[in-house]
Amino acid sequence: MPKIYIIDVTNRDGVQTARLGLSKLEKTMVNMYLSEMGVFQSEFGFPTTKHETNYLRANLRLAELGVITPLRLEGWLRAVTSDVELAFKMVPEIKHVNLSISTSDQMINGKFKGKKTRKDVLNDMTAAVDTAYRLGAETVGVNAEDASRTDLEFLIEYGLAAREHGAVRLRYCDTLGYDDPFSIYETGRALAERVGMPIELHCHGDLGMAVATSIAGARGVIDGGQDAYINTTINGIGERAGNADLIATVLALTKSKSFAGKYELGSPIDMSKSWKIAKFASYAFGVPIPINQPGVGANAFAHESGIHADGILKDPHNYELYGCEELGRGDAELVETGREICAGEYSGISGFSHIMSDRMAWHFKDKEEAQQVLELVRYANVLSHKPLVEEELLFIARYPHTARRLLTLTPLGDGTGPDHILNPLQQDDAL
Ligand SMILES: [Zn+2]
Repeated sequence: MPKIYIIDVTNRDGVQTARLGLSKLEKTMVNMYLSEMGVFQSEFGFPTTKHETNYLRANLRLAELGVITPLRLEGWLRAVTSDVELAFKMVPEIKHVNLSISTSDQMINGKFKGKKTRKDVLNDMTAAVDTAYRLGAETVGVNAEDASRTDLEFLIEYGLAAREHGAVRLRYCDTLGYDDPFSIYETGRALAERVGMPIELHCHGDLGMAVATSIAGARGVIDGGQDAYINTTINGIGERAGNADLIATVLALTKSKSFAGKYELGSPIDMSKSWKIAKFASYAFGVPIPINQPGVGANAFAHESGIHADGILKDPHNYELYGCEELGRGDAELVETGREICAGEYSGISGFSHIMSDRMAWHFKDKEEAQQVLELVRYANVLSHKPLVEEELLFIARYPHTARRLLTLTPLGDGTGPDHILNPLQQDDAL
């Protein structure tokens, strides 16, 4: 039977959300955590965006070194040939890309304003796919933006054209969260049967159904004989009402009445990392986890009413579908309530060494090494505006060269990548 894979898009859809963002170090930590969990792929950023270049290349290097593995790193691009060319110029090591273009008449007419027809959309997409393969891509996925408002016959034509040009997956974007579980089941099944390639489900929560539509769509795709790929974000952070939440989606796939034991994940997900990844994303985005969030909300395992509490004490299965331990919850966490030494942008070597050695048992080779890592920690603080978590500090201590690369943001380039960035000292404001 075909399987279901998770492609997390926190580092693309999540960070492009209004009012929210992550530093490059935080994005890297997200990739590390996703990889630890066993998530299949991370849509890790925008290869044509200048300030992403160092981050993208550093993360690809971490993957090459086996630090980020088995997670596959994939970049998001417009299905525009010149964008694909620029992406491979700026991030030559990139091997996996998704190319996106609008397919609904609403968007073709409303966004392109008569400059493009359906035929142009097909031509742009296939030319972009060809270009990506010519420049070294190993896998190319194509995204149909606003697929849920796209005429099904045109969507099938789009998918078939992509397949003919070697695309490995079609991303069905429910961009506005318009689908419901019944409609997306039918469409997912029709696409799988008639396009004959794996389908990605990218669902939004504007009608409160992102997880439901994701799993229903996946079921349609599987019943149509193809592998299904679900796009998620951590804590559901995404455009407007957000995307399908990673933890809730995997819980739904593994615990719900008609999925549990019947559908198989393509790569096993270690759910015991759920608490850690959800907490980190909440801290990094600065967005609290809702109290009633599935699995990781403060009330997800809290019981007060007499009947429920009595039932839980007799047997947790009376009122819980799954245990908190499965999600990595239940351990006591140390919260400082008194004196505390923090690492920040103005920290000194003595406080920093204390944090690293006493709290994390990390010992530097010598004072010089400690000083160099401290300097990087200071810069990381300048970018994230909040104290780094222990795993970020350890990351910088372990991979100082990578950290330096992540922290290097030089807004002076000719648009063709870090090799061509001009020396800032040679620049001056012409006052
Ligand atoms: Zn989206």
